[in-house]
Amino acid sequence: MSKIAAGSEVEAYCTKCKLVLAHTVVTMDGTKPKRVQCNTCEGVHNYRAKKPASKTTAAKKEKTAKGTSRKSRQSWDEVMKQAADKPHKQYSMSGSFNEGDWIEHATFGLGCVQSFTAPNKITVRFADSTRMLVCNYG
Ligand SMILES: [Zn+2]
Repeated sequence: MSKIAAGSEVEAYCTKCKLVLAHTVVTMDGTKPKRVQCNTCEGVHNYRAKKPASKTTAAKKEKTAKGTSRKSRQSWDEVMKQAADKPHKQYSMSGSFNEGDWIEHATFGLGCVQSFTAPNKITVRFADSTRMLVCNYG
């Protein structure tokens, strides 16, 4: 076995190429390479014999675990039934609306105001989706 010294070629994991590649030893730490230079990208980094245990897979698992607990939404039909005997306001950009108001939109139809954001935005839930609309305009 040939001794490794500064200038020797060794196989090491390149942090830039993300591969085990031929490297040239820059500095030694006793009998082991300490700093190596990648022959491919010429990047100098600490010597690693192998690819480090990937942390990304653990992070991915965490991500997929999230988002499973979704709020059980009231079906639109149920909401509509409740709304049937409530007064509806005709939607217009200059109108003023509050949370809980029912509005009729020329394009989107009947919707329920979910929230009012000062000074002039309302979030309205329509049958197909929730939209942000302008109010108190002009
Ligand atoms: Zn490299």
